[in-house]
This record gives sequence, structure tokens and C-alpha cells, in this order.
Amino acid sequence: LQTKTTDFLKNAGKMGALIRSKDWSKTSLGNPAEWPQSLKTTLSIILHSKFPMFLWWGPELLCFYNDAYRPSLGKEGKHPIILGMQAEEAWPEIWEVIKPLIDQVLSTGEATWSEDELIPIYRNNKLEDVYWTFSYSPVYDESDQRMGVFVTCYETTEKVKIYKETKEREEQLHFTIEAANLGTWDYNPLNNQFTANTRFKQWFGISADGSMDLDLALNAIIADDRNRVIHSIQEVMDKNSIKQYDIIYTIQHPETKEKRVVKAKGKAHFNENNIACRFNGTLEDITEEIKVQEYIKESEQNLRNLIEYAPVAMCIFKGPSYIVEIANKKMMDLWGKKTEQVLNTPIFTGLPESQFQGVEELLKNVFESGDRYVAHERPINLPRGEKIETTYVNFVFEPLKDTDGKITGIIAVANEVTELVLSRQKVEEAEERARMAVEAANLGTFDFNPITNEAVISEQLKKIFNSNSHINWNDFINKIHPEDKIIREVAFQEALISGKLFYEVRLIYSDQTIHWVRVQGKILHNERKEPFRVLGTLMDISDIREAHQLQEEFIAIACHELRNPLSTLNLSLELIASSPDHEDNPYYIDKALLQINRLMTMTNELLNVSKISSGFLDLKIETCNIKTIISECTNSFLSGKTKNTVQVNGNTDIAVKADKFRIEQVIINLLSNASKYSPSDSEIFIDIERKEEFVKISVRDNGIGIDQDQLPYVFKKYKRFNSSSKINGYGMGLYISEQIVQKHGGLIGVESKKGKGSVFWFTIPV
Ligand code: ADP
Repeated sequence: LQTKTTDFLKNAGKMGALIRSKDWSKTSLGNPAEWPQSLKTTLSIILHSKFPMFLWWGPELLCFYNDAYRPSLGKEGKHPIILGMQAEEAWPEIWEVIKPLIDQVLSTGEATWSEDELIPIYRNNKLEDVYWTFSYSPVYDESDQRMGVFVTCYETTEKVKIYKETKEREEQLHFTIEAANLGTWDYNPLNNQFTANTRFKQWFGISADGSMDLDLALNAIIADDRNRVIHSIQEVMDKNSIKQYDIIYTIQHPETKEKRVVKAKGKAHFNENNIACRFNGTLEDITEEIKVQEYIKESEQNLRNLIEYAPVAMCIFKGPSYIVEIANKKMMDLWGKKTEQVLNTPIFTGLPESQFQGVEELLKNVFESGDRYVAHERPINLPRGEKIETTYVNFVFEPLKDTDGKITGIIAVANEVTELVLSRQKVEEAEERARMAVEAANLGTFDFNPITNEAVISEQLKKIFNSNSHINWNDFINKIHPEDKIIREVAFQEALISGKLFYEVRLIYSDQTIHWVRVQGKILHNERKEPFRVLGTLMDISDIREAHQLQEEFIAIACHELRNPLSTLNLSLELIASSPDHEDNPYYIDKALLQINRLMTMTNELLNVSKISSGFLDLKIETCNIKTIISECTNSFLSGKTKNTVQVNGNTDIAVKADKFRIEQVIINLLSNASKYSPSDSEIFIDIERKEEFVKISVRDNGIGIDQDQLPYVFKKYKRFNSSSKINGYGMGLYISEQIVQKHGGLIGVESKKGKGSVFWFTIPV
């Protein structure tokens, strides 16, 4: 039934109005009122539908579309010009895509279905990527011929875009999870099932695919942690709880038994009934991190132990206010503080006494520059008991750096050396005083090594030896006056026993002038009791000697002057004594004679001493026999007033080269001493011993003996110990004897004990 109306365009929207207003007479379709009913019906459906629809009609596939379709054509583009246009002309850009579909529908009559298909179209002045879900279906005309293609479509560009973005985000998330080595899980509390990514499953040793029972995961958590995890999951799934799911626990692979510490973070999602319907999150393997933390903890503990038991004072200052983090007992002692006063406190708060002494600046510099600071014997005032005392400290400030190289603190190592410094200062002061004394006394000092025969000498001695600070000892010996060399030798022998060296000799200085010097020293022995060092002084005593000599000369002159009148007086008195008148006054004459005798002995001895002292004791060396010497001595001795007896032991028939008169003088002197210091009728012994190179003559008595303390001084000039008015003497006899023996190149000595008698001995070379 064909109507000749255009009623189908009534109320057909903007497109209906457009079709009506368009001049169709120029087209193959002609006036709309004349259009075939099948077209009218189809268009009526299309134009009245709110769903986007399109129609290609007739062999030319002329285009029709409705208002709902209109927006898909964009602002500037096909609308409205494609209305009634041929398909190929209207859709050149997609013709290749849609032509086969159209052909397929027209030839087979089967509808097509395409979803989210990208079909870019020209709109908004450009070719745009547009996604479509569409169906092409055939439209039949009155004679059941497929006359058109009906298109229902909707644009899904927006949906596809969202889908793509979501997909992209998912991919990103996936990538992040992969990159962060995270395990992920997604749990459905409603059915107690969960899914997890591969990594999660690997860690938990789960081989199942897809959805699994939660217990599968829980079983892999070590027993110690399991309940804690379950409790935590329950808490976050309670809508009223504000607890976060952020938990660290350990899992163990059921087969490999490999343990892994993981940090889980998750979030619960709730449905409209506030029931948790989803709980998902990520899992991070922090095994290494924990290991590192434990390692750091352990090394921190090691450091603590090291500091605690260090043999020196040690501590760590943390941060820019130098908080005392660790400090050992030795450090507390150094600070003069108790642990609780300084620990975990900035050092200058805990130990205010150390402030304003420059230590702040030192610490600051180390903290800022990272350079170590080393101090040597730095004085610091620190509390010692109630007082503040100056201490001396060796210390090191070493910067402490974290793994990034940032300075976090300072480690201090210290050693108090106060005692050392003070005692060294004392020694230095004493040395300085000694040096001043030595300088003031014009003393030369030497440090002689008897093993190398070398000596280090002082400035003063350098002048004498015309040498630098080292000399060979022979240089010194060579300078000794030839006559005095023996004195040094004897003194040295004595010093080896007594440890003390003392002698006075003449030296011939570099300028050939002769000087008297006094050498005093101390012999140091090593652990094998060998002398290894002689420390001593040398003083030029020429002036003293000169004064002394003048004195001796004066005595000599005086003695000479005295001797003659005394001799005359003595002779006269003896004459008087032997005259008959003597009977009248015997007492006074005897007494005068005794005194004259004493005076004569004294003047003789004084003369001897002065001769010796002034170096004028000349020996008349000749070959003589000990036998003769001894017998002359004993005869002379026994002819005196003595009551003692003398016994000679040993072979006396020995020839020696000696000054007979002087040796006799020595023996008589020893005999007369033995007599003086023994009971009046006791026996005196003379022992003769022949050794290889010398003969030793000893005079032995059973007298009062000599005190140990006094022994070293018996040979000193004018020394007397048993001085009593009864025993006459002037302390010169032994001195003279020693000088005579030494001039012969022999030694003299004594062995004696208080109350046990004495042995005076001397040797003469044969
Ligand atoms: P002196 O003229 O006083 O005897 P010496 O030089 O001969 O002087 O002796 C010094 C001192 O040594 C004496 O005063 C005496 O104290 C002591 N002395 C010497 N010989 C003996 C001895 N055989 N026994 C005890 N003491 C002695």
C-alpha cells in the first residue's frame, strides 16, 4: 500500500525536518512523498528512534541517519552534507573497511556484529580515531529485494579509551609490582579464597592455579608468627577498626625450607553492608634488609664491646651536640665523672669543666671537615676529686661516617699522660739545674763507654780536647801528663770496686799548657755486672792546686826553718840528758825530748807531704832486695821504744827495682801504725808473697781494726779516726805511703774489721 505523504517525517526530529526541507528532486529518489513504502517505514523507525541509526538505501547506497547518530559526525564534517549522498562518496576514508561488510550483508542477507572496532572518521575538521560497536543488517523492499543496509551503532571511543587507560594503569601497576619484586594477593573473605601472583606463590610454595584456600598461604607462615598475622587480618577486616595491615612476618617454603622475612601491606574493601568483601595487598621480601639490620646491630654491638674493653679511654660522640653515646670506664676516669653524669648527654653539658679550652673547636672542625685530629700531650683542665687539675692527654678524634659517607659522630681515643709529662718536666728541670751548676762550676762532663772506648763530651770539654762532641778515650789518656798516668790507672782500678771514680792529674791541653784537673765519676754496671758506662765531670783545678802548692811551699819552708833549730835543740837536750846534772831534773828533760821528737816527726812528715803534693817526690830507683829492706825495717822498728814483736813470713829473697829508702819508710810507717793501734805487747806479722809481676808485702796486726765506713778514707791526707791524745799522729803516714807506692806503679790497700785487727798491704812491680 503506497501512500503519497511524507507523514513518516513528522515529529522525526531535526533529521526528519532536514529530510523534508532538502530538495530531493535532483536525486534518483525524487520527492519523499513518492518514496517506496519500505524506505518510508525504515526511515520512520530510524528517525523516531533514540538509538543511533544509519541507513544506506538503494543501489547507490544513499545515506540517512537520525538525530541520535548525529553527534558521531562531529561538529565540522559530514553533517549535514552526507544526507542523501552516495555511501562511497560520503565515507571515502573508511570505504575499504565498510564496503565488504555492506556487500556481505546485501549478498548473504546476514547481519554483521562488530564490537569496539576502530573506524576513524572525518569529523571536527580532522580524521579522528573513533571506536564503534555496530551491526549491519539488510533492509528488504516491497518485492523482498535487499534494498538497503541498516546500521545500528554506538560509538565506544570513550569506553575504549577508559578501557585502554585502565589497561595501561594495570600494566603500570604490574610493572611496578614486578620491578619492586613484590608479591601480590587478593583475598575474598566471603568464600575464604584468594588469588596471588606467581612470585607470591613461589615464596609460599603454592603450586595451584587460580583461586585457592587461604589456609594454603597461612600454612607457610612460621608457627611463631601465624596467629599474629591472622589476628591482624581479622582486625583490618573489621570496618570499625582503624588498624592498618602493615606487618612483618616470616614464611618458610614447605619444600625447600627456605625462610624469608616479608613485609605485608594490605587494604580491606567493604560492601554496602559494611562487610569486608575483598582484602588485597602486596608483600615485600625484606630478608636481606633484616640481615643487613642484624649485621649493623651486630657490628654496633662489636664496636660497643671494643670500646668497653679497650685498654685505652674510648668514647663515641653522636651528632653536632656531641652526645656521649658510648664511653668506657677508662674514659670516665679520664673525665673524672660517673657514667650516669655523662652518658646520653651532650659532652659539654655532662662535663662542663672541659668547656672553653678549645676542645669545642677541635670537635667542630672534625665534625665538619671529616679530618682526623691528633693531639699530643695536650693540657686540659679536668675534675679530679673536688678540684680541677691540669691533665695532659694524648688523643685522637676520628670522624664516624654512615654508609652514605655522612659524618654522624666522632670516635675519641685518649690516653692520659699527666704523670709522664710531669715527671719528664721534673727531670728536665733537674737537668737544667744540673746543667746550670755544671756551667757555673766550669765543669766539663763526659759519658764514657768502656766497651767502645768512646766518650760523649760537653761543650767545656770540647774546648780542652779541641774536638767535637765525641772523643776516643785514648785522646784523653794521651793528654795526661806522663808522670800522672799511673794515678788514673790506680783510681780506675779502685773505682771498679767502689763504683766511684776520683783522681787529680795534670793534663797537657792542646795549646801545650799544663793544667791540673779533678776527675770525678760514677761507674754504671750492666746486668752482667760489667762496667758499661762512666758518667763524670772534669774540673780544671789548676787555680786551687796553685793555691795549695803555695801553701805546701810555705809549709816546706817553715819546716825547713823549724828543722835546724829543732835539731840543735834536740842535740842540746840530749847532751843535757846525758850529763850528770840531768839527775836533778830528769822529768822535765825527758818530757822536752819527747815533745821535740814529736815536733821533728811532724815536720818531717809535713815536708814529705808538701814534696808529694807539689810533685817533687823524686824516686832514686835501684835494684834492691826485699830481705834487706825487711830486716832493716824490723831492726829500726824494734830498736825503738816498742814492746811489740814482729814475725816475718814468706820468702823474702826477692830483688826489686825500687827507692829503698822510700819503701822502708812505707813499711816502718805500717809497722808503727800496727803498733799504735794494737795492744802494746802483741805480735805484728809481715807476710811476703811473690806473684808473677809483683811482690805483695802485708803488715798484719790483731789490733783495734777499722770501721767499715772509714776504710775508704784511711789513705786520705790528714784523716784520723782513732784520734786520742794518747796515740800521736797527724793522719799523714798512710797518705805518704800511698803516694810512694803509686809512684812505684804499685797498689796499696787495707782489709780490716772493727776489733778484729787490720792488714795493710802494698805491691811493687818486680
Ligand atoms: P796517723 O798518723 O794518725 O796514724 P795514718 O795516715 O798513718 O795517720 O793513719 C790514718 C788513720 O788510719 C789513723 O788515724 C788510724 O785511725 C787508722 N789506722 C792506720 N793504721 C791502723 C791500724 N793498723 N789499725 C787501726 N787503725 C789504723
